[in-house]
Amino acid sequence: MILNTDYDLIIAGGGMVGAALAGALGETDLRIALLEGAPLERIHPDVEPDIRVSAINRASQRLFAAMGAWEGMTAWRVSPFRDMRVWDATGFGHIHFDSASIGEPLLGWIVENRVVQYALLERVQQLPAVELLCPAELDTAQPVAATGGWQVRLTDGREFTTRLLVGADGAHSRVRQGAGIETGGWQYDQKAVVGNVRTAEPHQETAWQRFLPTGPLAFLPLHDGRCSIVWTTLLEQADALLALTESDFAQALADAFGQRLGAIIEVGPRGAFPLRLQHSYSYVKPGLALIGDAAHVVHPLAGQGVNLGLLDAATLAEVILDAVAAGQDFAGLKTLRRYERWRKGDNLLMLGVMDGFKRLFGSTFPPVRLLRNVGLNLTDAAGPLKNLIARQAMGLTGDLPRLARSSAHLHPVTGG
Ligand SMILES: Cc1cc2nc3c(=O)[nH]c(=O)nc-3n(C[C@H](O)[C@H](O)[C@H](O)COP(=O)(O)OP(=O)(O)OC[C@H]3O[C@@H](n4cnc5c(N)ncnc54)[C@H](O)[C@@H]3O)c2cc1C
Repeated sequence: MILNTDYDLIIAGGGMVGAALAGALGETDLRIALLEGAPLERIHPDVEPDIRVSAINRASQRLFAAMGAWEGMTAWRVSPFRDMRVWDATGFGHIHFDSASIGEPLLGWIVENRVVQYALLERVQQLPAVELLCPAELDTAQPVAATGGWQVRLTDGREFTTRLLVGADGAHSRVRQGAGIETGGWQYDQKAVVGNVRTAEPHQETAWQRFLPTGPLAFLPLHDGRCSIVWTTLLEQADALLALTESDFAQALADAFGQRLGAIIEVGPRGAFPLRLQHSYSYVKPGLALIGDAAHVVHPLAGQGVNLGLLDAATLAEVILDAVAAGQDFAGLKTLRRYERWRKGDNLLMLGVMDGFKRLFGSTFPPVRLLRNVGLNLTDAAGPLKNLIARQAMGLTGDLPRLARSSAHLHPVTGG
C-alpha cells in the first residue's frame, strides 16, 4: 500500500531531458519536484552562444511546442538547417539530404544546449504541478519498503520521499547508482572538440560532416552566420588541438575540413568531451525510472543523443498520464515496464547503428573504404531509401509517443 510521500514524482536532473519530462507533466494534479544541481545563473544563455549545441529534430521540436517551451527557445536563438551534406575525406563517397526533396520546409534546428535547458526551466516554473529546486543536488537514493517509493537525500542535507523517482541526471547518474542498475558499454578512443567559428564562405543553412579516418568533423549552422563545430578525433590529437593558438587551430580546422567553406576567419572558445557508448541493463525498478543519458549514451556522430532522451521523456509522460487517467498505479512496475519496452529497442538500435558507423568510417582497410564510398553514393542515388533515412532521423516516422506526433497534445485522447 502507498503511504504519504512528500512528492508523487521527483525528477533528479533538470537538463534538457529531465526538464522536458517536468514540462510534459506540469499541468497534472501530480506533485512534482524537479531537482537541478547547477544554479540557474550558470544555465542562463549568454550573449555569446554556448559551445555545446544539439541538432534538434522535428519530434523533439513538437514536444517542446506541445509543452509551451518552443517559443522561449526561438526568443533566444535557434538556427534551422535545410540541407545536410556528408562525405568521406578518403574517397569519392558523398550523400546529400535536402528538405525540399522530402517535401519538408527544413530538416531540423541547431540549438544551444543552454537555450533548450533554460527555456524548458522557464516554462516549468510557470506550471502548477512542478516545484523547481535549483540548485539541489541529489546525493543518495534509497528504496523505502513501507511506501514502495524512494527517499532521496540532497548534498545540502535536505531529504524527501516520493512515489516515483526519475533519474534524468546524465551519464554518471547517481539515481542509477543508488538503484544498483548496471551498465554495459565502453569508452571510445576519441574526444569531441567543440567550439564556434566563422568561415569565409556562408554556411548556407546546411549541416556539413566530413568523415576523416580519425573521426567525423561537423560544421553546424548558427543563427549569426557562424558554425558550431564538433571535431571528433583521437584523444591525443584532441588535447593537442585545444593547446593550439587560435590561428594555428583555424588553419588545422580549415585543412581538416578540406577548405569546404574556405578559411576559418574567427575562432571562439574551445572545449573537449570524452565519448562513450553506455547502456543501462534496465531502465526501471519499482518506483524508479531512468531517462536520457542516465539510461543510454550514444556516439554523437549523427546528433541523436538528446533526441532519443526527449522521446524517453515524452513516452514516460504518456504512460504516466495514461495510468493516472485509468486509475492505475503510475509508479508501479506494470506502468514503468510499458515505458521500458517502448523505448529500449529503439535506443539500442540507435546505439548499435552509431557504433557501426563509427567503426565503418574509422576503417582504413581498402575494401571497407571502397564499400562505404560505394554505399554512400548508392544511398544518395536511391531516393526512397534516402528519404526513409532522413524521415527517421527527423523523427517523422516510427512508434512515436503522442507528444512527439504532428498534432501533439499533452493528455490522453478519449473517444477514439
Ligand atoms: C560533443 C557532443 C555533441 C552532441 N551533439 C548532439 C546533437 O547534435 N544532437 C543530440 O540529440 N544529441 C547530441 N549530443 C548528446 C546530448 O548532449 C546528450 O544526449 C544530452 O545532453 C543528454 O541530456 P540529459 O538531460 O539526459 O543529460 P545531461 O545533459 O547530462 O543533463 C543532466 C542534468 O542533470 C544535472 N545533474 C547531474 N547530476 C545531478 C544530481 N546528482 N542532482 C541534481 N542534478 C544533477 C546536471 O546538472 C544536468 O543539468 C551530443 C553530445 C556530445 C558529447
